Amino acid sequence: MQKWKENLRVIEPYVPGEQPQNKDVIKLNTNESPYAPSPETGKAIREYDNDKLRLYPSFVCSELKSALMETYPVNESELFLGNGSDEVLALCFMTFFNSKKPVLFPDITYSFYDVWCNLYNIPYQRIPLDNNFRIIKEDYYGKNGGIVITNPNAPTSVYMELNDIEDIIKHNEDVILIVDEAYIDFGGKSAADLIHKYDNLVVVQTYSKSRNLAGIRVGYAMAQKELIAALEAVKNSFNSYTLNSLSQAAAAASAKDKDYFNECVNKIISTREHTVKELSKLGFETLPSKANFIFTTNKNISAEKLFNYLKEKNIFVRYFNKPRISEYLRITIGTDEQMEALINAIKEFKQ
Ligand code: PMP
Repeated sequence: MQKWKENLRVIEPYVPGEQPQNKDVIKLNTNESPYAPSPETGKAIREYDNDKLRLYPSFVCSELKSALMETYPVNESELFLGNGSDEVLALCFMTFFNSKKPVLFPDITYSFYDVWCNLYNIPYQRIPLDNNFRIIKEDYYGKNGGIVITNPNAPTSVYMELNDIEDIIKHNEDVILIVDEAYIDFGGKSAADLIHKYDNLVVVQTYSKSRNLAGIRVGYAMAQKELIAALEAVKNSFNSYTLNSLSQAAAAASAKDKDYFNECVNKIISTREHTVKELSKLGFETLPSKANFIFTTNKNISAEKLFNYLKEKNIFVRYFNKPRISEYLRITIGTDEQMEALINAIKEFKQ
């Protein structure tokens, strides 16, 4: 009976944060931007030629690539675009991690990595962060089948200096190192410049956070052209047209509006610093953040209880019931008003 069940691929999927549809919610749980996309994006969407949607999108994505080439020192053959950085990363895992040796990543990091390893049967090993949730570079010197570093790390928000990343690359010439830079624009320095120096480095970024466009699903990888060509071949074995034409146009328009980008990022950084100070007055200890979220704990308050209480008040933050981090909350930086509402709600919290 139901013998076909033996052939099912059973997998525990990645679980993203909730997406409540109620407009009254203060949504600080999935690291989106609280600010609207650049007005240039809105204009590009409004003025998009309806007839163009009749055709398949460009899989060369030249317009978007040209816009990105103005921000990063890369050329077209060094850029790979995808439907959100999740898709780019999933294709990277499939393309670059084909060794019998384990892929290494921190014990506390983006929880999609082990899902992809399980999906593709890639062996992996989690390397513990130190007690301050920092990555110890020497821990990545051993034999391995590849490395993934999120910088700044998630959900901890802790940033690793670029020379430490470079040190890990130098010690791992025989494997590919992926740096997931989903949050790099909030105070970190990108490893993108290093791709010309190292042929085993892949840098992945997204439009979902600092570019205020989680809804259009655009992510990209930067690497030397041989790696990009390998990624393209794998992608083209799944789907030639991952990135729809409207998203390409919207993302290209956004990339050109550098002033708006800087304005939004700077506002988020200043709100973050202010929020950390306010939380510390209430007894919270917050890890040093270079992201658009903070990771915070309070010795006298149960993180789980506070999470549930905030949810009742329509303030959504993220709680992970996992070893080492079950007393922390990850809080996305919203507008000043949203963060004030959060602080006021916490002040009224009684265990
Ligand atoms: N990497 C990290 C570390 C993330 O937190 C996220 C967001 N969940 C992603 C990648 C994927 O983002 P997106 O697919 O929206 O580009």
